[in-house]
Amino acid sequence: MQDTLTKKLFDVDNIRKDFPILGTFSNGKPLVYFDNAATSQKPVSVINAIGDYYRNYNANIHRGVYSISIKASDAYESSKRKVSEFINAKSDREIIYTRGATESINLIAYSFGADNVNEGDEIIISEMEHHANIVPWQELCKRKNAVLKVIPVTDTGELELDEYIKLLSDKTKIVSVGHISNTLGTINPVKDIISIAKAKNTNICCIVDGAQAVHHTKVDVRNIGADFYVFSSHKMYGPMGTGVLYGRAELLEAMPPYQTGGDMIENVSFSQTTFNEIPMKFEAGTPNVEGAVGLNAAIDYINSVGFDAIYVQESELLQYATEKLMEINGLRVIGTSQNKASVISFVVKGLNAFDIGVLLDGSGVAVRTGQHCTEPLMDKLCIPGTVRVSFAFYNTIEEIDIFIDALKKAIGVLQ
Ligand code: PMP
Repeated sequence: MQDTLTKKLFDVDNIRKDFPILGTFSNGKPLVYFDNAATSQKPVSVINAIGDYYRNYNANIHRGVYSISIKASDAYESSKRKVSEFINAKSDREIIYTRGATESINLIAYSFGADNVNEGDEIIISEMEHHANIVPWQELCKRKNAVLKVIPVTDTGELELDEYIKLLSDKTKIVSVGHISNTLGTINPVKDIISIAKAKNTNICCIVDGAQAVHHTKVDVRNIGADFYVFSSHKMYGPMGTGVLYGRAELLEAMPPYQTGGDMIENVSFSQTTFNEIPMKFEAGTPNVEGAVGLNAAIDYINSVGFDAIYVQESELLQYATEKLMEINGLRVIGTSQNKASVISFVVKGLNAFDIGVLLDGSGVAVRTGQHCTEPLMDKLCIPGTVRVSFAFYNTIEEIDIFIDALKKAIGVLQ
């Protein structure tokens, strides 16, 4: 049944032709790219959209009176509208472009944090957060003498919601959690997490780090109830160096600028400066137009494949790879939540993850090894690091077979 559904929704061979890099070789072997959680590969439509921008209408935006500048400005604005629809924001005024999820979180921590967090206030994150959703809050707490509280993770890699409820207090100002864990693959119940916080106090600011989510599942920021939702273009088949900060307009309007300079101003004199409206207030200087154009094309691509097909293909890959990995002696999957995206971390008894990664590379298989920017999670799980494979919809069962063979050989060499 699932096979029929997959075939109907999805022709992976055709899809793979859209991604030139998937036809290349690494160390003399066909590239098997299983590091999609670090960054995804790019379809021709994204590469061409960026090329077309530079070949035909590269110009600075919002200032030019001439045609190609107007065209570039329109492309930038239409990209914002595309993102806004993609995540069901109320308006494209709520979409701010940044360098990536990391910068988006820093923007909130500096700007929202400056006006809304005071001495003794509390910020809640979780044990499974990426460093990008830990360090900006730690630093904000240092600046403000505020307190960082951490939701624990169970042995299977799920958030302990009972403990979360206990952490909420009258002093809680911010709750910031990841939608999907980049290390464990766990899909967190972010809608519930937010509604629990809002039931305690509607003014608690709820932030979701969606860096690992927007390309796996349809995100509806209003349905989730997020005040802020952040992600990076490069993990969703778009270019590097572009990220999104979605924020509810009322919050963004009240927040001070994060950076200052050109474009984010209304009027400037030596005695006083007034600021532009949102979202421009948060986009000082020349923006990354190429990134916006590429992200627009990436969203078109995702929409053309469709989340139903993406879900079916990625679930099949996750299930097959998990089963094959579990058959290997001494191998332990880290993160066995019922609700998982196509990310699998594992350790092999007595072996170093890095050594496994290097040997896999020799077979053309690209995986990630180490702590995955989640050092506190590794400490909690008492492991130095993992090997992580993360699949995109363009990956195949045949690639998993190649990986499993190469892994067995690597384990044989290292044991
Ligand atoms: N959050 C999560 C869950 C991530 O996986 C990543 C990237 N690994 C980030 C935040 C940071 O994204 P970026 O490096 O693109 O800013």
